[in-house]
Amino acid sequence: FREFKVKNETFFKFLDSISHTYKADVPYHNWVHATDVCQFITYSIKTAKLEQKFTKLELFGLLVAAICHDASHEGFTNAFNVKAETPLGILFKNQSVMETHHCSVAIEILAKEECNIFDALDSAKLKEIWNMIISLILMTDMIKHNDFIAKVNEMLTKGSMDYKNPEHRLILMQLILKCADISNVSRPFEIANKWCDVLCEEFFRQGDLEKTKGMEYTSPLNDRAHLDKPKSQIGFYTFVCLPLYQTTAKAIPMLKVNAEQVSSNLAIWKKETESKNSK
Ligand code: 5GP
Ligand code: MN
Repeated sequence: FREFKVKNETFFKFLDSISHTYKADVPYHNWVHATDVCQFITYSIKTAKLEQKFTKLELFGLLVAAICHDASHEGFTNAFNVKAETPLGILFKNQSVMETHHCSVAIEILAKEECNIFDALDSAKLKEIWNMIISLILMTDMIKHNDFIAKVNEMLTKGSMDYKNPEHRLILMQLILKCADISNVSRPFEIANKWCDVLCEEFFRQGDLEKTKGMEYTSPLNDRAHLDKPKSQIGFYTFVCLPLYQTTAKAIPMLKVNAEQVSSNLAIWKKETESKNSK
C-alpha cells in the first residue's frame, strides 16, 4: 500500500466490488475460489522468496490478477457458452470466452475512481500492470494448457529461466497463477477431495442443463449418473496437474514441494480405484 499509495478505503471498495461479481450460488467458481487462488500466490511468494526475483509492480499485478481471474463466473464452461450460444459465447466465440469476460469485469471495476487501486501509477506503469494482468488471466484458459506447458519445457531444455528476460518473467508469473488456479490438487488430500466435490457439482449442474436443453454433454465430467470420480481425478492429475507442477518445479525449484503433494494425492486416488475394483 505504501509503495503504490493505495488508500485503505479504495482497497476495501475495490475488494468489495470485485467480491460481489462472484456468485455465491456457483458451487466452485465463487469468491472462496478467488481468495484461495490469491492465498496460493501469497504462499508461493513466501515459499520461493519471489520478492527477491520480481518487482513490487509484478507481485501487485499477480495478486490483483488472482483475485479478479474468475470475476462474474456463472458456473458454465467456455465450451457450453459457445455451444449454447449464450450472449458471452456469441460475443467472444473465437477467443477465451470467460477469461475475456473476467478481464472486462476487472477493467470496469478498476475504472471507478473509488475502487482504483492503480490511481497513483504513472501511465507507463499502468500499461505495464494491465498488460500483465490481462496476459495472466487469459493464460488461465485450460484450452491453452498443453501448448503452454510444452513451450515452457522446450525453453527449459535450453537452460534455466532468465530473470533478466521479460518474456521469461511473464511465463514464470503465468506458471504461478496457473498452479494457484488448480492448487486444490496440491492441498492435503481431504481438502483436495472437498474441492473436487464442489467442482463436480458445478459440472453436473451444467450437465443437467445440457440435458434439459437437449444438447449432448460438452464433457463426460458433466454426467452426474456416470462419473467415476477417482478415475477422472487420476486422468486430471496425470495429464494436466503433474506436468504443470513438475514444469513449475523445474523453473522455480523452491516450489517442488507442491509437485510432491500432487504426486502423493495421485497415489491416494489410485488406491481408491484399486479398492473400488477389488470390492
Ligand atoms: P478456472 O476455470 O478455475 O480459471 O480454471 C481451472 C479449470 O481447471 C476448471 O474450470 C476446470 O476445468 C479445471 N479443473 C480444476 N480442478 C479440476 C479437477 O479436479 N478436475 C478436472 N477435471 N478439472 C479441474
Ligand atoms: Mn479459477
